Amino acid sequence: MVLKVDASREPQDSGLYRRPRLMLKPIRAEDIPTILAKVNSYPGPVRAVGADYSQTRCVGSDGGTTVDMSALDKILGIEDGAVRVQAGVRVGTLVRALAERGLELPLTPEIGNISVGALAVTTLPQASQADGMAQMSSCVRELKIITPQGKEITVTEKDRELMRVLRSSFGLLGIVHEIVLRVVPMKQIKIDYQVLSLSDFTARFDELMAASGAMRLHLAPFNDRVTVERRTPDKTNSASRSGIWQIRNSVMRNVLPAFGASVGSVLSAPGLRNAVLSGVHRALNATQGRGSRGVVMFAHEWLRDLPPESWKARFTYSLWAFPQADYPRILAEYFTFCRRYYKQHRYRANLVCGASRLHKDRSSLFSVSYTGGMLTLEPSSAGDKGWDDFLIDFNDFASSHGGTPTFNQTRALTPEHVARAFGERAKLFRALRKRTDTLNRLGNSYFANLLG
Ligand SMILES: Cc1cc2nc3c(=O)[nH]c(=O)nc-3n(C[C@H](O)[C@H](O)[C@H](O)COP(=O)(O)OP(=O)(O)OC[C@H]3O[C@@H](n4cnc5c(N)ncnc54)[C@H](O)[C@@H]3O)c2cc1C
Repeated sequence: MVLKVDASREPQDSGLYRRPRLMLKPIRAEDIPTILAKVNSYPGPVRAVGADYSQTRCVGSDGGTTVDMSALDKILGIEDGAVRVQAGVRVGTLVRALAERGLELPLTPEIGNISVGALAVTTLPQASQADGMAQMSSCVRELKIITPQGKEITVTEKDRELMRVLRSSFGLLGIVHEIVLRVVPMKQIKIDYQVLSLSDFTARFDELMAASGAMRLHLAPFNDRVTVERRTPDKTNSASRSGIWQIRNSVMRNVLPAFGASVGSVLSAPGLRNAVLSGVHRALNATQGRGSRGVVMFAHEWLRDLPPESWKARFTYSLWAFPQADYPRILAEYFTFCRRYYKQHRYRANLVCGASRLHKDRSSLFSVSYTGGMLTLEPSSAGDKGWDDFLIDFNDFASSHGGTPTFNQTRALTPEHVARAFGERAKLFRALRKRTDTLNRLGNSYFANLLG
């Protein structure tokens, strides 16, 4: 049975304006083929929505039908190194259920709210350990998908090329209702931090890239500082687990975007705000100082949940990836860009800029590390005045420095940015969509603008 939800109630405060004619919530997978096949009853664009935390209008179904997948929320079975789930299951729920059985996904994001349906078809890069596994969708082994014509198909890893396209198809080739993900035995991860000046980071870049483990960076452009967070599987059980919760909670609470919203929204005077933000950076350094002794945790322990009202957290960061070899130069130029921007416009992105090291991963067509190893820049903000303008200029900086964006986490993209980053891959995807979705049931204005 399909439940009708009142489309007029959708809050617009996130800046992502959209107005579907119909909002439906299927409670059985069998209802989805009818929604797609009945063109007159269910107007296009027909767009699936998972948890609705994307930073862009990729979900948007203006004048059409939004299909809310959240009621399809069952974990169906765990066996043979894999878990079978419905598309509406939240990653946090899944990861915690796996941990109870001593299992985990090969990659674990920091946000628990993401739906598994979105995880399977969007670009969610994560700090990676090795080639071939740098985006969440690379964990997908099988998909059950309803095509634009309302037919169900099952695609497995054996259909390599089709799977590659589906893993970053954003609901433009069909609605996914069931997913099989690879799982692995849970392991302890040792996390340690090193605070480096920009020049030390540059001098030691090759050594840092050669070391094992996944790498996150916390960048402070106004202090010329790079904090290197390394996550290495801990086989020795050498480091102490004591105090880990306090350390992580402190870092998360002080620094990460959703929690920072209250800081930014109450402080409007730039001088005052920047003083407080320096305090935030100091707090980060203090907690990381304790972390530099090395702490150990399981991946599910770093998951956190954003506020349940997704529109409150949606517009708080953006993400571009850059070729590894060019990263030290690009980082130095990014620091200069931020300072120059502040001088000219009196605006600085008011939360810490994160970054991840991504290994080469060709498992999905729009993988940001498709062509080789990459590192990201992820400025984040409480969404204060000036943020949207900053992103327009930052996007031009990023694109002109060979950056690759995502369709769900990079704000204010233009068709030129997309063409420059994806070139032939975008053309291939466009051609495939024309062939498979002849009535254009699934395309919305956001993707029409960016991909044609
Ligand atoms: C403050 C904040 C911090 C975040 N930090 C991180 C982070 O550190 N790491 C990380 O990986 N992510 C992070 N995210 C999440 C990230 O922004 C994702 O883009 C997003 O949340 C994807 O999950 P979702 O379920 O919300 O997808 P939605 O926004 O609901 O959908 C995303 C796209 O997938 C399509 N889709 C959804 N479900 C289906 C389906 N069943 N079938 C076909 N198409 C479907 C939609 O049409 C849309 O195009 C963060 C988000 C916020 C707001």
